[in-house]
Amino acid sequence: MGEKQIIIAIDGHSSTGKSTVAKQLAKALEYIYVDTGAMYRAVSLYAMRNGFIDESHFDQKALENNLDKIYLKFKINPQTGLAEVLLNDENIERQIRTLEVSRHVSKIAAVSKVRKKLVEQQQKMGEDKGIVMDGRDIGTVVFPNAELKLFMTATAKDRAERRFLELNERGENVTYEDVLKNVVNRDHIDSTRKDSPLRKAEDAIKIDNSNLTLQQQFEQILKLAKETIAKA
Ligand code: C5P
Repeated sequence: MGEKQIIIAIDGHSSTGKSTVAKQLAKALEYIYVDTGAMYRAVSLYAMRNGFIDESHFDQKALENNLDKIYLKFKINPQTGLAEVLLNDENIERQIRTLEVSRHVSKIAAVSKVRKKLVEQQQKMGEDKGIVMDGRDIGTVVFPNAELKLFMTATAKDRAERRFLELNERGENVTYEDVLKNVVNRDHIDSTRKDSPLRKAEDAIKIDNSNLTLQQQFEQILKLAKETIAKA
């Protein structure tokens, strides 16, 4: 007899390592991992490629009118065992991780019609439970009944440092100041938007990982997950 499967919702500020811990957790529990930020990033890339958004303008209507032309799917990369996002069948996993996409994504994610489309798809993915999903509104909007909700945070400085190292390792030529500005700006837009603002669900457990190692954080969260599954 298998254990009962649950939904684990991980929300929090930008670059708090949500996806790192979500991946570790999904692997340990043999759950599916869904990175909802990748879906908003994919829609942003689509908007950028079609000239709907750039540094100086955003044609929201044009994006809304073309939403039905956007088809998103996740596909496991057999080499890493991790899901990668496909935009109209093109693997765009690398292209969505740039600072340029990060600069536009929060504006795209504030559009209600975009959120509606992606939230519906996310809810379908969680129908059979056994899922770890990370984002900004998972515990508040996508799965308000998730059995375990985590809200991750850390100081903006710590988060920007981590993201800066990551982007540099990938060969992106960015400054620490630019990354910090982006992290702070995204948090501001994400927390103040009208539709599904980033906030901690009342029943979410807050985890400030400024002073935790990855291993400490993972152990703490895995323990919580196992306790929750045992009670489910
Ligand atoms: O998680 P990640 O940093 O990749 O998310 C990119 C952006 O997508 C966030 O800054 C936010 O604007 C948006 N997002 C969202 N709701 C989610 C996931 C991401 O609004 N569930």
